[in-house]
Amino acid sequence: MRILIAGAGPSGAYLANLLAKKGLNISLVDKLKSPLNNPYSSAVLPLKSISQFSIPSKVISSYWNSWRIFSPSSNIYKWENSDSIGVVLDFGKFRQYLWELASNSGVKILSGCKVAKVISYSNYATVKLISKEGRSFVEQFDFVIDATGSKRELLGPLNNDQIGSFDKVLTGYGIEWIAKVDSITYNFWKDNLTFFLGCKWIKYGYGWIFPNGDNCLKIGVCSLEKMFTNKINMNRDIKNLLKKNNLSDFSVVERHGGELKSSIFRSESNIKQRVIGVGDAISTANFLGGEGIRHSLLSAKILSEEIFNIYDQVSYINSSDLINIGRKFQKRLRRELSWRWPISNLIAYKVWKKISTKEGDDYIEEVISELSNKASPLDLSMILFDYNFSRYGLRLLPYVFKSRKICL
Ligand SMILES: Cc1cc2nc3c(=O)[nH]c(=O)nc-3n(C[C@H](O)[C@H](O)[C@H](O)COP(=O)(O)OP(=O)(O)OC[C@H]3O[C@@H](n4cnc5c(N)ncnc54)[C@H](O)[C@@H]3O)c2cc1C
Repeated sequence: MRILIAGAGPSGAYLANLLAKKGLNISLVDKLKSPLNNPYSSAVLPLKSISQFSIPSKVISSYWNSWRIFSPSSNIYKWENSDSIGVVLDFGKFRQYLWELASNSGVKILSGCKVAKVISYSNYATVKLISKEGRSFVEQFDFVIDATGSKRELLGPLNNDQIGSFDKVLTGYGIEWIAKVDSITYNFWKDNLTFFLGCKWIKYGYGWIFPNGDNCLKIGVCSLEKMFTNKINMNRDIKNLLKKNNLSDFSVVERHGGELKSSIFRSESNIKQRVIGVGDAISTANFLGGEGIRHSLLSAKILSEEIFNIYDQVSYINSSDLINIGRKFQKRLRRELSWRWPISNLIAYKVWKKISTKEGDDYIEEVISELSNKASPLDLSMILFDYNFSRYGLRLLPYVFKSRKICL
C-alpha cells in the first residue's frame, strides 16, 4: 500500500514515522526546503507532553515554572510553581527531529516539493507534485493524507458551509519575533510564560513574551480581530509590545507567523474522497491556549492506528474502508479530546471577542484578579492545558458566560 502525506509539520511527519515503522510505504512531501525554515510556532507544551510523545531534550529551548499576566491596567500577576510546568520548543529543531525519525523509519521525504492537485478514483488517487526545480510530475497512491495545516490545501479551505449550523469557524493570526537581549533583561523573562491581556496591549487577542534560551525571547501577538472588524495590523501591535517593555533596541533575529484556524465543535468532515485530514487541517488547534502541537500529534497517533487496523485486514483500500477509517478516527479523537474541548474553544471565543472595549477590559481584570486570589499555578495549567474548569475554574464560568445566553 502506498500512501502520500502532504505536509511535514508535526502531524504529517509524526504520522509518516508511525506508519513507516509498521511497514507501510510512505512518501512525505513538504513545500519547505528545510525543516528549519519558517519555524512559525511558539511551541509551548506542558511537561507531560514531552514524556507522552518522547520529545528529546535537544529540541527544548527552555523550561518554565511560572505563569505571569500583565493585565489591562498593567498590574502584574504571577503564579509560581517550584518545579517546571512546561517547555518552549525550538520549533525548527523539533520538525528536523521528526523528519529524521521519519527518514530513519524508511519514509521517502520530498522537501521543497508542493502537492498541487489530487484526483480521486474508486481505488486509488493520482497526485500532481511540483518539485523544487519547478518540474511537475504525477504519481499514483492508494490514498492521500492532508497534513497541510489550517490552509487544508487538499480538503479545501474551512468555512462555515462545511460545519454544522451550531458550530463556528475561528480564525486567528499570530506573528512572533525572536529578539536577542542582554542577560539582565533575559533574567526578568526567563522561567515565565508571560501574557499581555487587554485593549492597551492588543484587541481581540493577546500578546506574549516567552524565554527561548540563549538570551533570546519569543515576542508575539495573536488576534481574532479580522473575524470582527475585517482589518488587522499585527506589525503595529508587536512593535507596541516591544516598546512598552523596553525591548525595541534589541536586535530581532527571526520573524515568523501564521494563521490559526479551527471550528469550535470540530463538526466538519475529516475526509473528502481519497483524502483524509490530520492535525490543524481537521481543527485540532485549540483557541484557549492558542496551541495545537500536542493535539496534532495525538491525532496522528490515532489515525496511524486506524489505518493500520484496516491495512492488516485487506489487500487494497476501497472507498468504504476509507470512510470507516475517517469515522472511527473522528470518534476516537472526539473521545480523547473530550467534551471539554468545544467548551474551552467556546470560552476562548467569548473571551477574545470581549477584549475590544473598556467593559471587556474591566471584565478581564476581574477574572484575573479572581484567579490570582483563588488559583494555584497548577490550577491554571489545569484550565489552560487540560481545559478542566471544575475546581477554581467553575467559579469563573459565571464571568465567562456573563451574558445569560451563549450566542455565537
Ligand atoms: C504564531 C503561532 C504560535 C503558536 N504557538 C503554539 C504554541 O505555543 N504551542 C502549540 O502547541 N501550538 C502553537 N501553535 C499552533 C501549532 O504550531 C500548530 O497547531 C501545529 O504546528 C500544527 O501542526 P500540523 O502538522 O497540523 O500543521 P503545520 O505545522 O501547519 O504543518 C503543515 C505543513 O504543510 C506544509 N504544506 C502546506 N501546504 C503544502 C502543499 N500544498 N504541499 C506540500 N506541503 C505543504 C507546510 O509547509 C507545513 O510544513 C502556534 C501557531 C501560531 C500561528
